[in-house]
Amino acid sequence: MAETKTEGQKLKEKLLTEKKNGWSELSDAQKKTVLKFSDGYIDFLNKAKIEREFVKEAQKLAEANGFKSLDKYKKLKAGDKVYYINRSKNIILAVIGKEKLEDGVNVVGAHMDSPRLDLKPNPLYEDGGFAYFKTQYYGGIKKYQWVTLPLAIHGVVALKNGKNVEVKIGEEDDDVTFVITDLLPHMARHQMEKKATEIIEGEALNLLIGSIPYDDDKISQKVKLNIMKLLNEKYGIVEEDFLSAELEIVPAMKAKSLGFDRSMVGGYGQDDKVCSYCSLKAITEIEDPERTAICLLVDKEEIGSIGNTGMESLAFETFLGELLALTGEDKTPNVLHRLYQHSKMLSADVDGAFDPIYASVADKRNASFFGFGVGMNKYTGSRGKSGASDANAEFVAEIRKLFDENKVRYQLAELGKVDEGGGGTIAYILANKGMDVIDCGTPVLSMHSPYEVASKFDIFMSYKAYKAFMK
Ligand code: MN
Ligand code: MN
Repeated sequence: MAETKTEGQKLKEKLLTEKKNGWSELSDAQKKTVLKFSDGYIDFLNKAKIEREFVKEAQKLAEANGFKSLDKYKKLKAGDKVYYINRSKNIILAVIGKEKLEDGVNVVGAHMDSPRLDLKPNPLYEDGGFAYFKTQYYGGIKKYQWVTLPLAIHGVVALKNGKNVEVKIGEEDDDVTFVITDLLPHMARHQMEKKATEIIEGEALNLLIGSIPYDDDKISQKVKLNIMKLLNEKYGIVEEDFLSAELEIVPAMKAKSLGFDRSMVGGYGQDDKVCSYCSLKAITEIEDPERTAICLLVDKEEIGSIGNTGMESLAFETFLGELLALTGEDKTPNVLHRLYQHSKMLSADVDGAFDPIYASVADKRNASFFGFGVGMNKYTGSRGKSGASDANAEFVAEIRKLFDENKVRYQLAELGKVDEGGGGTIAYILANKGMDVIDCGTPVLSMHSPYEVASKFDIFMSYKAYKAFMK
């Protein structure tokens, strides 16, 4: 016999919010769908560890789903699918809507760059019988996390003849690997007393790449010469070509399902390739939207969104200008500003999830939890919301309604305790132009580390959220 509810129980259900773990609400079939979605994501993570690779994979997926390059269109009409690539490091995709562009577009924006080590312009040197590459770190890393783990080299060497030599070494099973060494504990008494920021100094992030000397007694720097000889044979480059190279050092580990229950994904670069992938996947499934749907994938977020491939650049505006011209809407004065003023955006970037091992830095009542859905931050910033665009309440209400109607599980959170945490995304840049923007992305553990963790439930909900928003 069913127990009857007390007045208090009924009132509690009506008035108070009870947060629930989303897994427990899924049927077995739904669970399968959620788990399966991450297979494609894991595969993508392993194919695209750097922004240039992500753009290439995104272009392939876009073309397979009927998107055509912007320069292929003489005119754009409702239902058309178009993409635009900026300098191999940004890709913007749009599905043209039935409504006019000046009445606003719906944008999901994410970044494809992730914290890593970059080669310095003069990287190659020899010391103590070893050859090394010198590096500079990119983005906010804990330097001590990047030693003694297998590393790979990805990127391009741009030659004076205008050609690019592509490099991707350290990923295949029969490839070699690279490493940055650390001091053995037996001799580390002094090192272990240092602060975490100094345990591994920036100038110690040197990649070990060889140890056989070139066989000629008449020359010095024999190991360096031998390595350069090998690189010349394999890539046709000389030492000077490093001056115009973009070579990125990334963890060589593969992304995988994590946990006995396979509920999570472990892998490098999930900030922010998880939201990049989910928004990309979502837009490839959008057909004939009311408002134009845009997926905006940018570079350089981790170092401040500056530069001609970062969100602060005019690349996005240039793209919008082209859309206005190709739909014939560019005749009205001030049309781009009106477009911005009427547009809406989900700034799709990861959120720091609650980690019980480090519970002391979180406000448990305002943290995002694994398995509770896509994480929204009304504001980011630090020390009293400084630097945050702070989404308008009306816009948050509109998104709540949209997500509830589309059965998207979401949670609203902030990054860490007051005066403890803080951070930023690309949200403020488009909010400054007049758009309504809220941060909305997958919560992750160990953010910015060589191996980040995300929940497959939240990944699936992020994808569902972006799709509902663009539809
Ligand atoms: Mn991010
Ligand atoms: Mn980041």
